[in-house]
Amino acid sequence: MSARNILVINCGSSSIKFALVNEAQATFPLQGLAERVGTPEAVLHWQLGDTKQSLNIPGADHRAALERLLPVAQEAAGGKLDGIGHRVVHGGEHFTGSTLIDEAVLKAIRDSAQLAPLHNPANLVGIDAAMALFPGLPQVSVFDTAFHQTMPEHAFRYAVPEFLYKEHSVRRYGFHGTSHNFVSKRAAEMTELPVDDSCWLTAHLGNGCSTCAIVNGESRDTSMGLTPLEGLVMGTRSGDVDPNLHSYLNRTLGWSLEQIDRMLNHDSGLKGLSGLSNDLRTLQEARVAGHAGATLAFEVFCYRLAKSLASMACALPKLDGLIFTGGIGENSMAVRTRTLEHLKLFNFKLDEEANARCTRGVGGEIQAAGSPRVLVVPTNEERQIALDTLALLDA
Ligand code: ADP
Repeated sequence: MSARNILVINCGSSSIKFALVNEAQATFPLQGLAERVGTPEAVLHWQLGDTKQSLNIPGADHRAALERLLPVAQEAAGGKLDGIGHRVVHGGEHFTGSTLIDEAVLKAIRDSAQLAPLHNPANLVGIDAAMALFPGLPQVSVFDTAFHQTMPEHAFRYAVPEFLYKEHSVRRYGFHGTSHNFVSKRAAEMTELPVDDSCWLTAHLGNGCSTCAIVNGESRDTSMGLTPLEGLVMGTRSGDVDPNLHSYLNRTLGWSLEQIDRMLNHDSGLKGLSGLSNDLRTLQEARVAGHAGATLAFEVFCYRLAKSLASMACALPKLDGLIFTGGIGENSMAVRTRTLEHLKLFNFKLDEEANARCTRGVGGEIQAAGSPRVLVVPTNEERQIALDTLALLDA
């Protein structure tokens, strides 16, 4: 059997990210992005091998953009596409793993839309379009939440009245599951530990950020909750705040729920604290130049991350290693250093040279002698989505 090709699609409300994953190749033969979908400025960018190309597709909706993408993907796959893997943000309690898409699955994703009103409908548009365009191809949905369905009840329940859970699905779900899953398996490979007998703390730090406690290949706790707002300080999201903040702001400033939502999701986090940017690279430069807001944002980010990791440790019987991933985790030696300085009781010590070496896709162990393992592991959500899709094709 020749190596199979899976097209991975991640549909947002106005964008489509895509990658062609070949099971025998380390790099993607094709990857790209359709932006501003549904507007006169819609544009498709892709990289085929080393060649970058763009095509204006004015007014194209998701389906039209996917239609333009199809011949490019077919060509990159040598005419042989074997399946499509779709990222879906929320699978509720219904999905404990990835699944082949059929009518019942579509209905269940639709039913979960209330839990992720911004994301699931966009994911569904992509699935509908791809199913109409590629009716003969097996299509799989891979959920951000599914990996965390192994959390025990004491980790996933909120201390609120039971009917809110039983009748209204109010519980902690967690997100970034594809990434936490991928990097913990990679870490087991890198350290030659068996997946089913190894325990990890993972920190996925991108624009969204979350931590996870993983025991023998299963998530036991994670920092995000009912929505991706809970937990760590993120690019523009506040992470944990006092739940009474809503009523306080309503009472004192007269803010509506929509205003408070927008502030917590879009104007907070690194951006809100620094008053400068949500981008850590910009903040690191400003911090070195003495910018007070950037310095504070960096300090709060690292301290809150350390606190979250320490609390995640409650879910582990032992620790085989702490894993940093995501754009910040993979690149910022300053964040890794400062965060571990806050975790003195764990006795983490970094090898400065190894820490400096791990950036721009280079992973490895970065601890000094005598310290618990600390690893930088580049995440690869597209690869994990393709692996899940292939596993379902084999089954
Ligand atoms: P997303 O969650 O959108 O996939 P990424 O995983 O790409 O985001 O992470 C984006 C974050 O990573 C940004 O805050 C960016 O500043 C940060 N980042 C990327 N490269 C570096 C770098 N070399 N040094 C520090 N931070 C970096």
